[in-house]
Amino acid sequence: MTFFYIIHMKKQLIFFILVFSLLLMSIELRSGEDCQEYITIEDLQYFLPERWCGKKIDSLLMPETSELVKIPDSLTFEDYRIYLLPETKAALNEMSEAAKKDSVFLIVDSGFRSKSFQKRIIKERMLSGEPYEKVINYVAPPGYSQHHTGRAVDFVPSVALFANSETYRWLKENAAGYGFVETYGEDTTGLIPWESWHWYLEPAGDNH
Ligand SMILES: [Zn+2]
Repeated sequence: MTFFYIIHMKKQLIFFILVFSLLLMSIELRSGEDCQEYITIEDLQYFLPERWCGKKIDSLLMPETSELVKIPDSLTFEDYRIYLLPETKAALNEMSEAAKKDSVFLIVDSGFRSKSFQKRIIKERMLSGEPYEKVINYVAPPGYSQHHTGRAVDFVPSVALFANSETYRWLKENAAGYGFVETYGEDTTGLIPWESWHWYLEPAGDNH
């Protein structure tokens, strides 16, 4: 009787191990990056986290350098030279004039960024000792940043604290009127980092 009981137990155990391994495999398959998109840094391929999958910026939306215009020094942080599409510059100018009337001063510390610049940011962070998996959590992969379009701006200070600022409150209330949207808003799931300082001028006719 005991013997049969042990055999029975073993069968149960084997069955349990089998189900458990299948479960692990399916979790592995799901988290094992369904995303096959990758970037290349120093000839090495780095796969992208799921959240960037399918979000590559259409190259048609990436302007030539000659199409970009410099924004006024009065709107830039320190002596940064910041370039945007003419329509982004115009919308930003108009919005900053309106903000001034409410005693809010919009200062930009990033506008157009090329793919190679974006790659350099990642490379530098990695050289300073941060693992790729960490860097890619807060730096967009080259080819995936809205800054490639000349339509995105980062307001000062471009850090988490911005969400508590009067400037942010003003933008939440007024930016839409000038065509700007907050791309990476407060995400309650915590999957996408909140970038309250990053605003994007939607192309005309884009209603979403
Ligand atoms: Zn940004």
